Amino acid sequence: MELIDTHCHLTFDDLACDIDSVIARSRAAGITEWTTIGTDLQENRKAIDLTERFENMYAAVAIHPHDAKTVTADTVQELKKLAQRRRVVAIGETGLDYHYNLSLHEDQRRVFAEHLKIAADLSMPVIIHCREAFGETMEILEEYPSGIKNIVFHCFSGSAEQAKIVLDKGYYISFTGVVTFKNAEKTRLAASVVPLDRLMLETDCPYMSPEPMRKQKVNEPALMIHTAKFLAELKGIDFADFAEAVTATSRAFFALPTTKPTNLTPPTSLR
Ligand SMILES: [Zn+2]
Ligand SMILES: [Zn+2]
Repeated sequence: MELIDTHCHLTFDDLACDIDSVIARSRAAGITEWTTIGTDLQENRKAIDLTERFENMYAAVAIHPHDAKTVTADTVQELKKLAQRRRVVAIGETGLDYHYNLSLHEDQRRVFAEHLKIAADLSMPVIIHCREAFGETMEILEEYPSGIKNIVFHCFSGSAEQAKIVLDKGYYISFTGVVTFKNAEKTRLAASVVPLDRLMLETDCPYMSPEPMRKQKVNEPALMIHTAKFLAELKGIDFADFAEAVTATSRAFFALPTTKPTNLTPPTSLR
């Protein structure tokens, strides 16, 4: 069994300070590939450097919506350069966060659009961060030029109805350990409508450890096994089959190299 943590922040201090053990524990738990997500230029560079150190590790680059206010034309240019580095497999996380509102909505929309342009130009997948901004996020996604490879809503917190809208567009949905939380019935209902060929798993570590490890302050990729088992059970699917299916989905989404032949059909173009 092999699982891919499709969204983690391995360059953040809590994990970076002990990265060899973090990766060893992850491998031992069966989580053997990672996409580590950059959130500003410095983190993007660190993420790319880290991928050079570990086999099967990839990076995604972006400026987080929280930091949209800091983004200039130079930032966008530099980001586009970084996006073309070896082992960078996606643009993200980008989108709108109207929960924390750490940047003005206007700045967030502008920077989101810039990210979409880069992804379209380079024909790359996009990882969307969307909090309390579902309608506007969908509207902006409608506007950008075609060419973006795939789109995933990460750490999905919407309803089952919103999940259906996302799926109808041909996009993917990714779940964190939040789906295991007692009060997350809405997220479980959303998960139940997502087919395995559109579903991915992530930790979003160092945040949000899943149950029954929720008390572990620093989440890490190894703990994704709990989210995976929980979702397999929720969907009533044999765990090995579930793991194989979501790994194939993640591989297709990011176009990761595969060592084994799979029966997977290539991802359908979004437009
Ligand atoms: Zn996020
Ligand atoms: Zn994140």
